[in-house]
Amino acid sequence: MQLEKNKIEELRNLLATPQRIVILAHTNPDGDAIGSSLAWAELLKSEGHDVTCIVPNRYPYYLDFMPHSDTMVIYKSDSEGKAAKAVKGADVIFCLDFHTMSRLDGLSELLDENQHAKRVLIDHHLDPMEDFDIMLSYPKASSTCYLVALIIENLYGAERITTDMAENLFVGMMTDTGNFAFSSVTPDVFRMVSILAEKGISIPDIHNHVYNSFSEGRARLFGYVINRKMKIFHNGTVAHMSLTADELKRFWFQQGDSEGFVNYPLTIKKMKMSAIFTEHNDFIRVSLRSRGDIDVNIFAQRYFNGGGHKNAAGGKSFMTMEETLKFYEEKVKEYAADGMLK
Ligand code: 5GP
Ligand code: MN
Repeated sequence: MQLEKNKIEELRNLLATPQRIVILAHTNPDGDAIGSSLAWAELLKSEGHDVTCIVPNRYPYYLDFMPHSDTMVIYKSDSEGKAAKAVKGADVIFCLDFHTMSRLDGLSELLDENQHAKRVLIDHHLDPMEDFDIMLSYPKASSTCYLVALIIENLYGAERITTDMAENLFVGMMTDTGNFAFSSVTPDVFRMVSILAEKGISIPDIHNHVYNSFSEGRARLFGYVINRKMKIFHNGTVAHMSLTADELKRFWFQQGDSEGFVNYPLTIKKMKMSAIFTEHNDFIRVSLRSRGDIDVNIFAQRYFNGGGHKNAAGGKSFMTMEETLKFYEEKVKEYAADGMLK
């Protein structure tokens, strides 16, 4: 993938002298959000910048192994006010792996207090907001980690990628592509993987950390949700699952435990679209997946005030669980009637 040369030059100019930099990623940060933030932060620090990485809430416990993840400021539990201090004093704010301020939750109000910092977007979601000084928005890119790797290569050369950066970048490239299986994967993604592999990372170790380090509760919750909570309808082509707060508690739920569940119905041959609804304190989190040409980004935008990618999107519902499931089934019918489920 070719990055726009003029934007790389703008970025080079912006970073020519030491800056106070904040890197922000989205709520419920995943491997791509954390990996891209940490790798970009490490590179910027090595260039002499003062860098703070902030996320709105905690990342899943099985990502604790990621190098330097303990330096991330978690806004929700930031009792010392580190996030506020860093945002207010920042000269440059990088927004990584999200396309709308609504994905920052309460952190977006803090951001409003700094109107002087240059804002830079590095992201691969569809339909990004426009108000950035430099927009590196590439919806065809398979992950933000791949973009950060390309940006580092273009700005400073791939030799500047350290083993720690390579490990962090690999996590996001692996998780956002379903283990390099999605249609977003291009030959250039494998060229970049080859560069990262040469830095001496252990791919089996990273794989085990990310996919084989869950709690017992997570395994039992998965069995429960597939066996007891998966409803298949629309002639066997659409599925939904739901998890209430009580059910989560019964299985000692920890942040990140239900990650990936939504993909499982799509292992059934006829399945076209899948959803999981997870109850939080004041809303229900909606997670959607689809196969091929079925577009869940549009579905999420239309019906759940959300967005994402064509085959993986999300949003929120403010109805009860029962109402949400009924609403979803009705909207699937409407979507099909519009010719969107063919
Ligand atoms: P996940 O289902 O893994 O949480 O999210 C899938 C995709 O949908 C991600 O790319 C994520 O950025 C996007 N997404 C998830 N929740 C929301 C949301 O509330 N709003 C928007 N605009 N996008 C979301
Ligand atoms: Mn991503």
